[in-house]
Order: sequence, then C-alpha cells, then structure tokens
Amino acid sequence: AKAEFDRRICYYERDMDEQARERRDMARDLWTALEQNAFYLAYQVQKSVSTGETTGYEVLLRWNRPGHGEVSPSDFIPVAEECGAINAIGVWVLKMACLDAASWPEPYKIAVNVSGLQLAQVDFIETVRSTLFMSGLAPHRLELEVTETSIISDKQRALHILRQIKAMGVSIAIDDFGTGYSSLETLRSFPFDKIKLDRSFMREVESNEQSKAIVRAILTLGRSLSVPVLAEGVETRAQLDVLRKEGCTEAQGFLLGRPGAIDWDDRLESGLTG
Ligand code: C2E
Ligand code: CA
Ligand code: CA
Ligand code: CA
Repeated sequence: AKAEFDRRICYYERDMDEQARERRDMARDLWTALEQNAFYLAYQVQKSVSTGETTGYEVLLRWNRPGHGEVSPSDFIPVAEECGAINAIGVWVLKMACLDAASWPEPYKIAVNVSGLQLAQVDFIETVRSTLFMSGLAPHRLELEVTETSIISDKQRALHILRQIKAMGVSIAIDDFGTGYSSLETLRSFPFDKIKLDRSFMREVESNEQSKAIVRAILTLGRSLSVPVLAEGVETRAQLDVLRKEGCTEAQGFLLGRPGAIDWDDRLESGLTG
C-alpha cells in the first residue's frame, strides 16, 4: 500500500508540475499579449423582453493566443488574476469599451465585467473616473458587472467602493446571480441596479417545473426590490416565451445575438420581434 501511495503521489506531483508550467506559460503569453495589443473585444446585445429594443451591450474579452488559437476568458482570466495581469487587462478593456460606446446611439449602455481583484485596487475608482472623462462617455451609460465571489472577501470595502462608483452615476449589476451561496444576503447589503440571472437557470426552464419555479421566484424578488432582472444564456424562443410570461426585464443570449462585432445595419432585426 505504501508503494502504491508513493506512486500516486508521484503522479500527482508530476501532474501539478505540468499544470504549474502551463499556467506559467500562459501568464507569460498574457503579458506579451498586453504589450503587443493582441486582445480584442466582442460585444453581445442585451434587449428588453417586453419591447424587443436593444438596451445595451456586454463587452467580452477575446484572445487569439499564438500557437493555441482562441482561448476562452473562463480559462485565461483566472490565470491573469493569479499573475497580476488582470489589473492592466481590466484597465485596457474598460478604456477600449468606453471609447467604443461613446460613439454608439445615445440610449445604449455598455456593460463591463470587473474582477474582484480590480475592485480591490486602491486606484480603481480613479481609473473609472478618468476613463469616463477621457472617453467622453456619460456615466449613466456605463454598467459594471461584479460577481458575488468578487465582493465576498472584503464586504465592507467592496460596499464602500461600489457606493462611490454609484455616486458617480455608473450602475452596478450582480453577475451570475443564483450561483453563489449567499445571494440573498448579498442582495440585501449591496445597492445593485440589475440582477443578471445565471445562464444555468435557462437550461431547463422550458421543461423542468422546478427550474421554472426558481426563475419565477427570482423575478418576483427583483420586482419586490425594484431591481430589474436580465436573464443570461437565452438560446431558444421557448425560453424567451417563459421569460416574457413571467415578466423578466431584459434578456441576453445566442437567440438575440452572439458576441462579436456590432453590425449597426442589422440592429433593427430582433430575435424578439422577428
Ligand atoms: P459572463 O460574464 O457570465 O459572460 C457571459 C458568457 O456567456 C460569455 O462567455 C458569453 O459568450 C456566453 N454566452 C452568451 N450567451 C450565451 C448563450 O446563449 N449560451 C451559452 N451557452 N453561452 C452564452 P465568454 O465570452 O467565454 O466569457 C466567459 C466569462 O469570462 C464571462 O462570463 C466573464 O466572467 C469572464 N470575462 C469575459 N470578459 C471579461 C473581461 O473583460 N474581464 C473580466 N474580469 N472577465 C471577463
Ligand atoms: Ca458578465
Ligand atoms: Ca454572467
Ligand atoms: Ca460567468
């Protein structure tokens, strides 16, 4: 048994070495990508469920990693957080997205994902302020998306920062809602302007009564708190029909538009009205 144990530990360690090496290589490539301006942005439309009108776009970071092809942000953001590149990357995303959005038709908002590590930076508020100033984007057109996990480590501090950002006129959305372990507590203590219902809830909403009941409960919660709810990951018309019937405010997903470049000529065609 001892020999078997040693053998397993050995495999385990070799595995860890391999993973550590891969993360280190990716970290190095992330810094290079920053230097060489190799990141780019994709935009995904957000629409009103009742009117079908576009309300804004979420910006999603894209990276074509040399020798690897397109890498998902779900894979490289954690590495960027680990190696410290996330702050510089986050500043770049915010700046480019605000510059783009400043030339969009007036009502459209830009939603930007913010990592918890970014939020914890001493100069984060100043970064937001100067980016708005530099880009000329009106504060009410910027929305920051934060996850529960990103604010959980130091709640008081996060609350303080979010309040200051709101005071600037920028709005705050809670992302991936329903996946954290203390969603209700978070909702009670933070001044959110929007709830983004995690896309895992969409998967079974048409077929599974349980899932539908949970979605209905969250929509009711949003209504009682006067916080609009946006459903993520809407892929089918049937899902959209349920959301409309249950009074969901906004929707985002492949049915309404895939992340990519914005085609302004197509913007009147809508998955909601068409
Ligand atoms: P997220 O913020 O929840 O973003 C939504 C993700 O769902 C995106 O994946 C989007 O492409 C995908 N999606 C949209 N509609 C559908 C749909 O109908 N079906 C399915 N199956 N998926 C859909 P993506 O672009 O791979 O991003 C993954 C995550 O990476 C994001 O999740 C976000 O947490 C993070 N991320 C992306 N860009 C940034 C960024 O600029 N900064 C930070 N800190 N994180 C980012
Ligand atoms: Ca998001
Ligand atoms: Ca999300
Ligand atoms: Ca997510």
